[in-house]
Amino acid sequence: MSLLEASTVEHQPYRAVNRLTIGNTRVWASLGKELREAIEIVSHVLPFRTNRYVIDHLIDWERVPDDPIFQLTFPQRGMLPPEDYAALVGLVNAGAPQGEISALVERIRLRLNPQPAGQKTHNVPVLDGVRLPGLQHKYRETVLFFPKRGQTCHAYCSYCFRWAQFVRIKDIRFAATETHQLLEYLKRHPEVTDVLITGGDPMIMRTAALAEIIEPLLDLDRLSSIRIGTKSVATWPQRFLTDHDADDVLRLFERVVESGKQLALMAHYSHPIELSTDQARDAIRRIRSSGANIRMQSPVARRINDDSSTWVEMWQKGVQLGCIPYYMFVVRDTGAREYFELPLARCLEIYASAYRRVSGLARTVRGPSMSAFAGKVNVEGRATIGNKDVFVLEFLQARNPELARRPFFALFDPKATWFDQLRPASEADNEFFLPL
Ligand SMILES: *Cc1c(COP(=O)(O)O)cnc(C)c1O
Ligand code: SF4
Repeated sequence: MSLLEASTVEHQPYRAVNRLTIGNTRVWASLGKELREAIEIVSHVLPFRTNRYVIDHLIDWERVPDDPIFQLTFPQRGMLPPEDYAALVGLVNAGAPQGEISALVERIRLRLNPQPAGQKTHNVPVLDGVRLPGLQHKYRETVLFFPKRGQTCHAYCSYCFRWAQFVRIKDIRFAATETHQLLEYLKRHPEVTDVLITGGDPMIMRTAALAEIIEPLLDLDRLSSIRIGTKSVATWPQRFLTDHDADDVLRLFERVVESGKQLALMAHYSHPIELSTDQARDAIRRIRSSGANIRMQSPVARRINDDSSTWVEMWQKGVQLGCIPYYMFVVRDTGAREYFELPLARCLEIYASAYRRVSGLARTVRGPSMSAFAGKVNVEGRATIGNKDVFVLEFLQARNPELARRPFFALFDPKATWFDQLRPASEADNEFFLPL
């Protein structure tokens, strides 16, 4: 049931609701005092942004605070360590000077591991001795491009590993203003077959700006695929339906396909509700009719999608609509990770149980996969070797490409939630655990 008048929603131009504007909505008034305080306090530290489509069509307000999309987009008290929350609420309620609040907020943020997996230090490529902070080149075949104007999203996910991009932590943002550096880099790196335009969400950009990035790539013969990482299909399908340049973006997609390249939208779907509205289905239909493919990926997270039925429903709905299940990720070691994280053993159970209940068309999905410093580590299963209980692991992607698709083993640990908590099962496994 919607708490906002439905008539204000349809075809309304995109409008974000953030910490400052939510206070004027009926949604805000309907939340209890405790939830309101938590949103107010936690959003000082973790970025908060949602929109009318999410509020009116995706969140079931009768189920708040347990509703998965409410948990996905609204800050929650448990996302901060209790002592940090207490300190912050103390300062805010005492009317402390802004400078004092900001200093505490900055300290809390830096403790939340804002830049995991060497994004800032190890993946940044160099051209003629100049670092290119808007590019990342971690896996041989694929370059990530972070357009400056695409570094925000229609709604922020509370488990986002890019959250540091949205807040102004000193020296931590990365973004590119210039696409000629991307072109020059690709010309000199023939091993790269894929460009992944990502953010934030590049689909927040106007079509004309997106075209400026994409069109020059179409002349590069060696490039076979262009991907766009996006959550717009889930949180703002109007981008492909009723936004003023929605038709233009579909024409742009058609031009990419006509040029002979694969165009893939790497769609971030966290829950089947995101595939269930008329707008969501219409957006998928239009995107697919342009010749682009949609691949589905997201983390498995407590309070959002931590049971196998949710994944079965999501993959089945997606496949029915023509989307391709791609990755199930493990929640990363950053931000509010403790609020969302699940033991790897549990992630594996959810993945395997869901996998067993879907047809082969949905079994294209890989997971649960950890985007760790050394690469994408997939938890393949559990096994007993000799008298040892182990996780069977495999790199799907690795900084050192020679490590990919070689099974290796870690001692089983029922509590471990990330790769750095695992230990090699034997000496033969050591090489997979060395920092590269
Ligand atoms: C996941 C990822 C990619 C893409 O990997 P695919 O397996 O080709 O989807 C590229 N670069 C980085 C840094 C990634 O984390
Ligand atoms: S869509 Fe992706 S980048 Fe945007 S907030 Fe969600 S996880 Fe972060």
